[in-house]
Amino acid sequence: MKFNADEISSVIQKEIEQYEQKIDVREVGRVLEVGDGIAQIYGLSGVMAGEMIEFPGGVMGLAFNLNENSVGAIILGDYLKLQEGDEAKTTGKLLSVPVGEAVLGRILDPLGNPLDDKGPVITNDYRNVESPAPGIADRQPVRESLQTGIKAIDAMTPIGRGQRELIIGDRKTGKTAVAIDAIINQKETGVKCFYVAIGQKDSTVAGIIETLKEHGALDYTTVIVSGASSPAPLQYIAPYSGCSMAEYFMHKGEHTLVVYDDLSKQAVAYRQLSLLMRRPPGREAFPGDIFYCHSRLLERSAKLSAELGGGSLTALPIVETLEGEVSAYIPTNVISITDGQIYLQPDLFFRGQRPAMNVGISVSRVGGSAQIPAMKQVAGGMRLDMAAFRELEAFAQLGTDLDAATQARLDRGYRINELIKQGLCKPMHVIDQVFVIYGGTSGYIDSVPAKDVLRWQDEFLSYLHSSQQAVWDKLAGKKKLDDELKREMNAVLEKFNATFK
Ligand code: ATP
Ligand code: MG
Repeated sequence: MKFNADEISSVIQKEIEQYEQKIDVREVGRVLEVGDGIAQIYGLSGVMAGEMIEFPGGVMGLAFNLNENSVGAIILGDYLKLQEGDEAKTTGKLLSVPVGEAVLGRILDPLGNPLDDKGPVITNDYRNVESPAPGIADRQPVRESLQTGIKAIDAMTPIGRGQRELIIGDRKTGKTAVAIDAIINQKETGVKCFYVAIGQKDSTVAGIIETLKEHGALDYTTVIVSGASSPAPLQYIAPYSGCSMAEYFMHKGEHTLVVYDDLSKQAVAYRQLSLLMRRPPGREAFPGDIFYCHSRLLERSAKLSAELGGGSLTALPIVETLEGEVSAYIPTNVISITDGQIYLQPDLFFRGQRPAMNVGISVSRVGGSAQIPAMKQVAGGMRLDMAAFRELEAFAQLGTDLDAATQARLDRGYRINELIKQGLCKPMHVIDQVFVIYGGTSGYIDSVPAKDVLRWQDEFLSYLHSSQQAVWDKLAGKKKLDDELKREMNAVLEKFNATFK
């Protein structure tokens, strides 16, 4: 048999081409040094920043620092299993987490591994943990409201879907409580919730999960936990994981709410990693790019344009301050990135003003456009009453004689202050809120002793629902106060006040 030389060479060439396709292009390097959740690796010259690196025993890492002769990787598992000289392989993949319906109602770690006893997360959908935020053309202004069910917030610092509203305050001032109440209030709204617990005690997180379960909120909520005992790399990526899981629903046109509790602990984890990687420390020893960490996370909250389905991702980042120091590095950064802040103050909290929101310096820059008109109408009056009250309160403490008008403003202020108090896990429907705030700002509680204001509220609402539901329904339908409706509301309030003792 004779062969044509050309034929042979073409066959060989083809074989060689196919061989090229088949070979594993993964690079293999060696661990030079490992400890404290990070590893230095020699020999991965082609690795991408943020690429997953595989170590023996299934331990995964993430390329973090690309140095001239080595790669610094953060270890996302048990770094104690690794040793000097171990093999490290590139994977060609970026870190991704499972997303979709399968993650709802689950307690997961930041890599999407289950921490509950419901078995593995079964889904075909994965999403990169780091992905770019939607651009300007992909967005539209915030226009639907995200009701938290908390009177003080829905009236004075309203949150819109797609907004970023910071919850800031010292430790133990009820920051988490505000966020959890907001999640509980999403029960009938179809908003999918994601609670990311970063660097918190496991007992605290267990308590939060219990509360969510108790109120039936776990069905539509995913809890992503990297506790105080988790390695710093996991605490650092946890918020991005939660954000990715929420983004999946946003791109499907659904509404989501993500709570990052809290970003100051994530910043500390990132600082730890950066210092171990010998990145130069900046202000308060944080690395210079800590701002970028938080901004690229929070920029991913959005209200998508109608063409893209109109989905939204609302973010409630939480930041803890020390001694009320809002001008520290991390608080100022996050304040400047978000669209407003709810400032919780310890002295108010201990005085029993709960939620301990400082109404004077809490703001919401975009949510107002999402409020229902009726709430906008009544909340304006409340803001004025509160502002007048704050000015006069200092005077009142001097014990000077006050003229009748001033005294009346003060009395009104004390009662409004009382009216915005709210217990834990007791979200209130927005129409109920409009009714009680209208009652408060129109003088219907002026004759009620301050200590009885909340009792007045509860009894009024049960009266309203039991015998005046028609007026309630009318307001719920119109969503706006006109003269006719006001007359009817006044009549209801007068009738009720005649019976209130
Ligand atoms: P940490 O700094 O530990 O994260 P935090 O600021 O998140 O604390 P929470 O854990 O939410 O604060 O609340 C602290 C305590 O105050 C809790 O025991 C909670 O039950 C209580 N608390 C918070 N808000 C209210 C409220 N509106 N009414 C009554 N108690 C409240
Ligand atoms: Mg908390």
